[in-house]
Amino acid sequence: MSSPPISSPLTATVDLGAIAHNVDVLRQTSGAGLIAVVKADAYGHGAVPVARAALAAGAAELGVAHIDEALALRAAGIDAHITAWLHTNTADFGSAIDAGVDIALSSRRQLDAVIGAARAAGKTATVTVKADTGLNRSGVAADEWDDFAEAVAKAQAAETVHIRALMCHLACGDEPDHPLNSQQAERLDAAAADLARLGAAPEVMHIANSPAALTRPDLARDLVRPGIALYGRTPIPERGDFGLIPAMSLRAEVSLVKNLAAGDGVSYGHTWIAPRDTRIAVIPAGYADGVPRRMSGRLAVSIGDRLFDQIGRICMDQFVIDLGPDGGGVAEGDVAELFGTGESGAPTAGDWAAATDTIDYEILSRIGDRATRRYVGGEHSAQGRGA
Ligand SMILES: *Cc1c(COP(=O)(O)O)cnc(C)c1O
Repeated sequence: MSSPPISSPLTATVDLGAIAHNVDVLRQTSGAGLIAVVKADAYGHGAVPVARAALAAGAAELGVAHIDEALALRAAGIDAHITAWLHTNTADFGSAIDAGVDIALSSRRQLDAVIGAARAAGKTATVTVKADTGLNRSGVAADEWDDFAEAVAKAQAAETVHIRALMCHLACGDEPDHPLNSQQAERLDAAAADLARLGAAPEVMHIANSPAALTRPDLARDLVRPGIALYGRTPIPERGDFGLIPAMSLRAEVSLVKNLAAGDGVSYGHTWIAPRDTRIAVIPAGYADGVPRRMSGRLAVSIGDRLFDQIGRICMDQFVIDLGPDGGGVAEGDVAELFGTGESGAPTAGDWAAATDTIDYEILSRIGDRATRRYVGGEHSAQGRGA
């Protein structure tokens, strides 16, 4: 499965060994089975290789938002249990049923559409009941619950659906002691009791996202549903790293090195003026690649064992760093680490998030397609996006 190495100006290296390690940490800490959440191309890491690595490391199932994401995993030959939980009126429930994808239901309308698709296919649809226990996003609304529960129980009796799971999603999971966490779990337990009374008890239940999987084993029920922690980023920075290892490192080849005279400005708008004669280098990564423009002037990259400040505005495709008057020993073709595990002295994705007032999730999932994904540390190290 490995393809020949190709040189690439910008590379997101994904350590599948780190993914496997993080699966271990999550299973041990939560004491539950693991649904590896690989939506949004595995938070930018590449859904197929991450899914394979997580399953090989002991993850029990996979979770995605859209049915299309589940179908892409099936098309790659992944036959593990996959749940998809975000649908619109145009969702292709027929293909999901054909591919054996578990469809999480948030409304009576979705249930009726799935029943229709199951009848048309002459098959039983595997479904998860997604209850809204307080997030007030997806999930069956509290005032629609009784009607939904009766209808889904009837559909199970008619063998058009099979209720595999009951799930909900936490609103304040990253505040482990928030009272809503336990309330949401109690509401889900009550929903399970309702279904059981109607003869339609779910086989398994799951609640916990990454922060809850790591801090609230009492909420785990049968399975936990972590995303960000799988990728090695802490879901609660104030609580440390939980022993997780960041999986993605973003690196670029220095494309150009040149001299700059004191008083000369750099990049659009000349927001940075050289205070002295110096040398600068161009790095081929910009906001189209997921380097936030808002980070202009607040970013540093590591080359060799030295850190160099980014100067002037970050552009769509490139930014400039100051090498200092001695040039820092940097030559064209040298590799700069933009973010990684932190070991090289370069920032982490968490540092980028803190610098731009967002969360690691947004930083990682927005690393663009121009960054070649390269896989290391797995059975099938390979290069290329989703290889
Ligand atoms: C994204 C998502 C997760 C994973 O959340 P993390 O905070 O990344 O662990 C779990 N469940 C649902 C329903 C989600 O949408």
